[in-house]
Amino acid sequence: MKKILIVGAGFSGAVIARELADTNQYQITVIEERGHIAGNCYTERDAETNIMEHVYGPHIFNTSNEKVWNYIQKFGEFIPSINRVKAVTEKGVFSIPINLLTINQFFNKNFNPREATDFITSKGDHTIIEAKNFEEQALKLIGTELYENFFKGYTIKQWGCDPKELPASILNRLPIRFNYDDNYYNSKFQGIPRNGYTEVVSNLLNHENIKVILNTKYTKAKNSGFDHVFYAGPLDAYFNFSLGKLAYRSIYFEKEVFDGEDYQGNPVINYCSESVPYTRIHEHKHFTPWEKHEKSIYFKEYSKETEDSDIPYYPKRLAADKELLRSYRHLAENENNITFIGRLGTYRYMDMHHVIDEALTISEDFIKTGDATSFY
Ligand code: UDP
Repeated sequence: MKKILIVGAGFSGAVIARELADTNQYQITVIEERGHIAGNCYTERDAETNIMEHVYGPHIFNTSNEKVWNYIQKFGEFIPSINRVKAVTEKGVFSIPINLLTINQFFNKNFNPREATDFITSKGDHTIIEAKNFEEQALKLIGTELYENFFKGYTIKQWGCDPKELPASILNRLPIRFNYDDNYYNSKFQGIPRNGYTEVVSNLLNHENIKVILNTKYTKAKNSGFDHVFYAGPLDAYFNFSLGKLAYRSIYFEKEVFDGEDYQGNPVINYCSESVPYTRIHEHKHFTPWEKHEKSIYFKEYSKETEDSDIPYYPKRLAADKELLRSYRHLAENENNITFIGRLGTYRYMDMHHVIDEALTISEDFIKTGDATSFY
């Protein structure tokens, strides 16, 4: 049997481990730096309230990819759940993503879908033909008032830079709707695992051909003795940051126990104004409405620049980072028997379903050809 090393026990590593293990042609060792599996999707029950806690921030599984949806359900029961988010702005509390209710309440109108479309189109900046950044994309699509109240402050807090420096693609993650649909996602399938994400990843990794070793930091020396390595750690860290550091935003939380049933009445509320220091508050019991708990826990989420001891969350991908990424890719292409995988390994802003989809493709390629190219 070929020997495979997988660095990182998040979704990328776990899916590849499982796909290879199922062929009975590989012996897989997964090493993980932290003391637990599941990466930033890790969930555990809060000791005091027994509420399922999304320890590294809220994760709502959503995808339009039927293959991914069917695949993941083999490893855990997903309860259908629609993420409905509210936004606190200087002008009051609204529904987000921007939809007909948001538009009518914000502008104090009674528009139907067609009238709202015409109205918002008239607000958009038509001098912008092709939006070159986040701000231009917002001004072009929704105009100044909605941009400034819903996006500008939140984005400055979240990313720590001028929205003009960010790609338009970040804004495109959020739909803008002219009906009353307030689902945060456009995805066809959406759900929350009944027993948390840790159980799903644990089920993926639970195979006689897979060995998981926790609390083990990767060094290149660990490659020896393995036929191939799948590396889900940070790309720049693999090369000892020899060319410099790729920028990430990190987040941190202030966790509180609330001695009552319901602290904020919704799973996630965004705080769009710069006058509030946090970006959002998540109250985790609302992710599992089928459970009953007397108390509640909520997290105030803050964003910060990543320092050495921080967990990297969001790849910033500013112009300088993209340049650096190109240089690291060049180094990576000269390495043998290694595939860089996942959000950190390829330095991309990926959701869980993207990661799983790519991990399935990579596994398929590898099983067929004995090699697999990294996606960047
Ligand atoms: N965003 C915003 N206001 C909001 C929600 C989102 O300005 O109320 C912007 C912000 O720049 C954010 C981006 O839209 O980074 C994408 O939001 P999403 O909710 O997809 O971010 P994630 O859940 O990945 O943190």
